[in-house]
Amino acid sequence: MNRKLTREIRIGAVGVGGNNPVRVQSMTNTDTRDSEKTLNQIGELAEAGCEIVRVAVPDEESAQSLKKIVVQSPLPVIADIHFDHRLALKSIEAGVHGLRLNPGNIGDRAKVNRVVDAARAGGIPIRIGVNSGSVDKKILKKFGGPTPEAMVESAMEHIHFFESRNFDMIKVSLKSSSVLNTVSAYSLMSQKRDYPLHIGITEAGTPLRGAAKSGVGLGILLYQGIGDTLRVSLTGEPVDEMLVAWEILRSLRLRQRGPEIISCPTCGRTEIDLVSVATEVEKRLRKVDKVFSVAVMGCVVNGPGEAREADIGLAGGRNCGIIFKKGQVVRKIHGKNLLSEFMKEIEDFLSLT
Ligand code: SF4
Repeated sequence: MNRKLTREIRIGAVGVGGNNPVRVQSMTNTDTRDSEKTLNQIGELAEAGCEIVRVAVPDEESAQSLKKIVVQSPLPVIADIHFDHRLALKSIEAGVHGLRLNPGNIGDRAKVNRVVDAARAGGIPIRIGVNSGSVDKKILKKFGGPTPEAMVESAMEHIHFFESRNFDMIKVSLKSSSVLNTVSAYSLMSQKRDYPLHIGITEAGTPLRGAAKSGVGLGILLYQGIGDTLRVSLTGEPVDEMLVAWEILRSLRLRQRGPEIISCPTCGRTEIDLVSVATEVEKRLRKVDKVFSVAVMGCVVNGPGEAREADIGLAGGRNCGIIFKKGQVVRKIHGKNLLSEFMKEIEDFLSLT
């Protein structure tokens, strides 16, 4: 897999594009005016592996609250701005590390100019965020709808404008809720310019559907070497987005973080309460960032093979389980204490490695 080499920009201390790894982003869903709650959520996201966080800035009070958020956040903060350029200026004053805006909905070029000039002075990159729902009317008319070509033309218009102002700390996103349109739009864009791309499927849906759509869309793009940062958008808890994002990156061997949990789908041969054991193991290991593999398998047919391959594995038997570490059987445990005994072995394994 060859990654397309893009220009590097910096969001605070985090490099994006160039030779940096694909960065994982999310967005808070708290009321930004409540700095305490927002900071708590940013803390949870950081713990789950988020590297850059975006917060909505819908009003002046939110922009005011950013001052505290930026100072205390463990992650670089991007202000998400719509319509009102004064909020972008206030966010820059508050010390944000990046801006995300759609110049099309800020309107008047003179207003966008002021934002671009302030961002340049502060060394703050701007993400040009084009969504299929916000493409300019005249472009929509030309292409007959928010086609991938229309989205790219819209982004290029903004890029030309930024470049004419001598501003190149640009990141681009072209999100659509259609997987195929998103893939086409980013593929087209990546042939035109070498600005880093923030990829995502917007409004992807509730966690299961959203994870599937994001996995397909982002997977295709990343496999083609496209994408410098990503966000998995789910209708749910932002922290769940991290799990999906890291699994996508891990599946493509682009990045690794935390345990890889291998568990069988269960079948008529399953001899232990595998669903609850696997679910609980995953839950209890959520905050672990060490890279290792855990297999949780339901029977003695296929179980031992997979459990042996993993760093630590459990293969269920009749009211019992066999624990493997690095391919060797280390213990046989009995049904009732399966989960607690397996967790003890995992903790032991982690403390020794
Ligand atoms: Fe069924 Fe055993 Fe395979 Fe699990 S490992 S799906 S229990 S055959």
